[in-house]
Amino acid sequence: MKIIGVIGGMSWESTTEYYTLMNRHAKARLGGHHNARSLLLTVDFASVEASQRAGDWTALGTQMADAARQLERGGADLVILATNTMHRVVESIEQAIDVPFLHIADPTGNALRAAGITRVGLLGTRYTMEQAFYAGRLRERYGLETLIPDETERADVHRIIYDELCHGKVNDASRAVYQRVIERLAARGAQAVILGCTEITLLIKPEDSALPVFDTTALHAQAAVEWAIESD
Ligand code: GLU
Repeated sequence: MKIIGVIGGMSWESTTEYYTLMNRHAKARLGGHHNARSLLLTVDFASVEASQRAGDWTALGTQMADAARQLERGGADLVILATNTMHRVVESIEQAIDVPFLHIADPTGNALRAAGITRVGLLGTRYTMEQAFYAGRLRERYGLETLIPDETERADVHRIIYDELCHGKVNDASRAVYQRVIERLAARGAQAVILGCTEITLLIKPEDSALPVFDTTALHAQAAVEWAIESD
Protein backbone atom coordinates (compact mmCIF):
# COMPACT_ATOMS: atom_id res chain seq x y z
CA MET A 1 0.00 0.00 0.00
CA LYS A 2 1.15 3.53 -0.80
CA ILE A 3 1.84 6.03 1.99
CA ILE A 4 -0.74 8.77 2.64
CA GLY A 5 0.76 12.05 3.90
CA VAL A 6 -1.72 14.01 6.01
CA ILE A 7 -1.37 17.72 6.78
CA GLY A 8 -3.32 17.79 10.03
CA GLY A 9 -3.95 19.76 13.17
CA MET A 10 -6.68 22.00 11.75
CA SER A 11 -7.99 21.12 14.21
CA TRP A 12 -6.47 18.01 15.74
CA GLU A 13 -10.00 17.05 16.87
CA SER A 14 -10.82 16.27 13.25
CA THR A 15 -7.39 14.87 12.42
CA THR A 16 -7.99 12.07 14.91
CA GLU A 17 -11.19 11.28 12.98
CA TYR A 18 -9.15 11.00 9.77
CA TYR A 19 -6.67 8.69 11.46
CA THR A 20 -9.43 6.41 12.75
CA LEU A 21 -11.40 6.43 9.50
CA MET A 22 -8.38 5.74 7.28
CA ASN A 23 -7.34 2.76 9.38
CA ARG A 24 -10.90 1.42 9.64
CA HIS A 25 -11.36 1.67 5.91
CA ALA A 26 -8.06 -0.10 5.17
CA LYS A 27 -9.05 -2.90 7.54
CA ALA A 28 -12.52 -3.16 5.97
CA ARG A 29 -10.97 -3.39 2.51
CA LEU A 30 -8.00 -5.65 3.23
CA GLY A 31 -8.97 -7.47 6.44
CA GLY A 32 -6.74 -9.02 9.06
CA HIS A 33 -4.30 -6.65 10.72
CA HIS A 34 -4.12 -4.28 7.77
CA ASN A 35 -4.15 -0.59 8.43
CA ALA A 36 -3.49 2.52 6.37
CA ARG A 37 0.16 3.43 5.87
CA SER A 38 0.39 7.11 6.69
CA LEU A 39 2.55 10.02 7.75
CA LEU A 40 1.02 12.83 9.78
CA LEU A 41 2.36 16.35 9.98
CA THR A 42 0.52 18.40 12.59
CA VAL A 43 0.72 22.16 12.17
CA ASP A 44 0.08 24.59 15.02
CA PHE A 45 -3.54 25.66 14.55
CA ALA A 46 -3.07 28.85 16.61
CA SER A 47 -0.96 30.48 13.91
CA VAL A 48 -3.18 29.15 11.11
CA GLU A 49 -6.34 30.50 12.71
CA ALA A 50 -4.72 33.90 13.34
CA SER A 51 -3.59 34.16 9.70
CA GLN A 52 -7.08 33.20 8.50
CA ARG A 53 -8.62 35.98 10.58
CA ALA A 54 -6.03 38.42 9.21
CA GLY A 55 -6.83 37.27 5.67
CA ASP A 56 -3.17 36.42 5.12
CA TRP A 57 -3.71 33.60 2.63
CA THR A 58 -0.26 34.17 1.16
CA ALA A 59 1.43 33.23 4.45
CA LEU A 60 -0.94 30.29 4.77
CA GLY A 61 -0.08 29.11 1.28
CA THR A 62 3.61 29.15 2.18
CA GLN A 63 2.96 27.29 5.43
CA MET A 64 0.85 24.58 3.75
CA ALA A 65 3.36 24.22 0.90
CA ASP A 66 6.18 23.73 3.43
CA ALA A 67 4.15 21.08 5.24
CA ALA A 68 3.39 19.25 1.98
CA ARG A 69 7.08 19.32 1.01
CA GLN A 70 8.07 17.89 4.39
CA LEU A 71 5.63 15.02 3.92
CA GLU A 72 6.95 14.32 0.44
CA ARG A 73 10.53 14.33 1.71
CA GLY A 74 9.43 11.91 4.44
CA GLY A 75 8.18 9.42 1.86
CA ALA A 76 4.51 10.27 1.30
CA ASP A 77 3.18 9.01 -2.06
CA LEU A 78 0.06 11.16 -1.80
CA VAL A 79 -0.67 14.33 0.16
CA ILE A 80 -4.03 15.25 1.68
CA LEU A 81 -5.02 18.33 3.64
CA ALA A 82 -7.34 17.45 6.52
CA THR A 83 -9.45 20.62 6.41
CA ASN A 84 -11.80 22.12 3.87
CA THR A 85 -10.94 25.74 4.60
CA MET A 86 -7.26 25.48 3.84
CA HIS A 87 -8.04 24.23 0.34
CA ARG A 88 -8.26 27.95 -0.32
CA VAL A 89 -4.48 27.72 -0.95
CA VAL A 90 -4.47 24.50 -2.96
CA GLU A 91 -2.42 25.99 -5.83
CA SER A 92 0.52 26.70 -3.48
CA ILE A 93 0.48 23.10 -2.29
CA GLU A 94 0.21 21.55 -5.74
CA GLN A 95 3.09 23.66 -7.03
CA ALA A 96 5.31 22.61 -4.10
CA ILE A 97 5.17 18.83 -4.58
CA ASP A 98 5.61 16.22 -7.29
CA VAL A 99 3.41 13.55 -5.70
CA PRO A 100 -0.38 13.73 -6.21
CA PHE A 101 -2.62 15.87 -4.02
CA LEU A 102 -6.19 14.68 -3.37
CA HIS A 103 -8.55 17.67 -3.10
CA ILE A 104 -11.28 17.22 -0.45
CA ALA A 105 -14.03 18.52 -2.75
CA ASP A 106 -13.39 15.81 -5.35
CA PRO A 107 -14.54 12.68 -3.49
CA THR A 108 -17.44 14.78 -2.19
CA GLY A 109 -18.40 15.96 -5.68
CA ASN A 110 -18.15 12.42 -7.02
CA ALA A 111 -20.37 11.03 -4.25
CA LEU A 112 -22.99 13.73 -4.81
CA ARG A 113 -23.02 13.14 -8.52
CA ALA A 114 -23.32 9.38 -8.05
CA ALA A 115 -26.32 10.02 -5.80
CA GLY A 116 -27.97 12.14 -8.48
CA ILE A 117 -27.87 15.34 -6.40
CA THR A 118 -27.79 18.63 -8.30
CA ARG A 119 -28.58 21.22 -5.58
CA VAL A 120 -26.80 20.90 -2.25
CA GLY A 121 -26.46 22.88 0.98
CA LEU A 122 -22.96 23.74 2.11
CA LEU A 123 -21.99 24.10 5.78
CA GLY A 124 -18.49 25.06 6.82
CA THR A 125 -16.43 27.97 7.99
CA ARG A 126 -17.25 31.43 6.66
CA TYR A 127 -14.27 31.11 4.32
CA THR A 128 -15.58 27.87 2.83
CA MET A 129 -19.20 29.01 2.58
CA GLU A 130 -18.56 32.52 1.27
CA GLN A 131 -15.44 32.40 -0.89
CA ALA A 132 -15.41 31.00 -4.41
CA PHE A 133 -12.75 28.31 -4.06
CA TYR A 134 -15.08 25.57 -2.81
CA ALA A 135 -18.48 26.13 -4.44
CA GLY A 136 -16.67 27.08 -7.65
CA ARG A 137 -14.93 23.73 -7.88
CA LEU A 138 -18.19 21.88 -7.17
CA ARG A 139 -19.95 23.84 -9.89
CA GLU A 140 -17.22 23.66 -12.53
CA ARG A 141 -16.22 20.02 -12.07
CA TYR A 142 -19.43 18.40 -10.83
CA GLY A 143 -22.21 20.68 -12.08
CA LEU A 144 -23.48 21.24 -8.54
CA GLU A 145 -25.45 24.25 -7.40
CA THR A 146 -24.64 25.07 -3.76
CA LEU A 147 -26.90 26.87 -1.30
CA ILE A 148 -25.44 28.52 1.80
CA PRO A 149 -27.22 29.63 4.98
CA ASP A 150 -28.15 33.29 5.47
CA GLU A 151 -25.80 35.78 7.16
CA THR A 152 -26.95 35.19 10.76
CA GLU A 153 -26.92 31.43 10.32
CA ARG A 154 -23.46 31.54 8.75
CA ALA A 155 -22.17 33.45 11.77
CA ASP A 156 -23.56 30.74 14.08
CA VAL A 157 -22.22 27.87 11.97
CA HIS A 158 -18.76 29.50 11.88
CA ARG A 159 -18.69 30.37 15.61
CA ILE A 160 -19.68 26.84 16.66
CA ILE A 161 -16.83 25.41 14.58
CA TYR A 162 -14.08 27.60 16.03
CA ASP A 163 -15.34 28.16 19.59
CA GLU A 164 -16.65 24.67 20.25
CA LEU A 165 -15.89 21.87 17.81
CA CYS A 166 -12.21 22.76 17.31
CA HIS A 167 -11.92 22.54 21.12
CA GLY A 168 -13.66 19.18 21.20
CA LYS A 169 -16.88 20.62 22.69
CA VAL A 170 -20.03 18.97 21.32
CA ASN A 171 -23.16 20.71 22.63
CA ASP A 172 -26.78 19.68 22.19
CA ALA A 173 -27.83 23.33 21.81
CA SER A 174 -25.39 23.75 18.92
CA ARG A 175 -26.63 20.57 17.30
CA ALA A 176 -30.13 22.06 17.41
CA VAL A 177 -28.81 25.23 15.71
CA TYR A 178 -27.29 23.16 12.89
CA GLN A 179 -30.47 21.11 12.59
CA ARG A 180 -32.53 24.27 12.08
CA VAL A 181 -30.05 25.56 9.50
CA ILE A 182 -30.28 22.26 7.61
CA GLU A 183 -34.09 22.36 7.73
CA ARG A 184 -34.04 25.86 6.23
CA LEU A 185 -31.70 24.71 3.45
CA ALA A 186 -34.11 21.85 2.74
CA ALA A 187 -37.02 24.31 2.57
CA ARG A 188 -35.06 26.32 -0.01
CA GLY A 189 -34.66 23.28 -2.22
CA ALA A 190 -31.41 21.61 -1.13
CA GLN A 191 -31.53 17.85 -1.78
CA ALA A 192 -28.61 17.06 0.54
CA VAL A 193 -26.09 18.84 2.76
CA ILE A 194 -22.30 18.86 2.62
CA LEU A 195 -20.62 18.76 6.02
CA GLY A 196 -17.92 20.99 4.54
CA CYS A 197 -15.83 21.36 7.63
CA THR A 198 -13.97 18.39 9.00
CA GLU A 199 -15.25 18.92 12.57
CA ILE A 200 -18.99 18.99 11.78
CA THR A 201 -19.07 15.20 11.74
CA LEU A 202 -18.44 15.38 15.51
CA LEU A 203 -21.77 17.22 15.93
CA ILE A 204 -24.06 16.04 13.14
CA LYS A 205 -24.62 12.38 12.35
CA PRO A 206 -26.85 11.24 9.47
CA GLU A 207 -29.76 10.63 11.86
CA ASP A 208 -29.57 14.24 13.14
CA SER A 209 -30.16 15.75 9.72
CA ALA A 210 -33.33 16.45 7.76
CA LEU A 211 -31.26 16.01 4.58
CA PRO A 212 -28.87 13.24 3.48
CA VAL A 213 -25.40 14.23 4.70
CA PHE A 214 -22.19 14.12 2.67
CA ASP A 215 -19.42 14.11 5.24
CA THR A 216 -16.21 15.47 3.75
CA THR A 217 -14.05 13.93 6.49
CA ALA A 218 -15.23 10.39 5.82
CA LEU A 219 -15.34 10.75 2.04
CA HIS A 220 -11.83 12.24 1.91
CA ALA A 221 -10.30 9.69 4.29
CA GLN A 222 -11.85 6.79 2.35
CA ALA A 223 -10.80 8.15 -1.02
CA ALA A 224 -7.22 8.52 0.18
CA VAL A 225 -7.15 4.89 1.31
CA GLU A 226 -8.70 3.72 -1.95
CA TRP A 227 -5.98 5.59 -3.82
CA ALA A 228 -3.26 4.08 -1.61
CA ILE A 229 -4.56 0.57 -2.25
CA GLU A 230 -5.37 0.91 -5.94
CA SER A 231 -2.16 2.74 -6.92
CA ASP A 232 0.08 0.12 -5.38
N1 GLU B 1 -11.45 21.86 9.92
C1 GLU B 1 -12.18 22.96 9.41
C2 GLU B 1 -12.47 22.82 7.93
O1 GLU B 1 -12.61 21.72 7.44
C3 GLU B 1 -11.93 24.30 9.93
C4 GLU B 1 -10.61 24.59 10.57
C5 GLU B 1 -9.73 25.31 9.62
O2 GLU B 1 -9.85 26.52 9.55
O3 GLU B 1 -8.92 24.69 8.93
O4 GLU B 1 -12.66 23.78 7.24
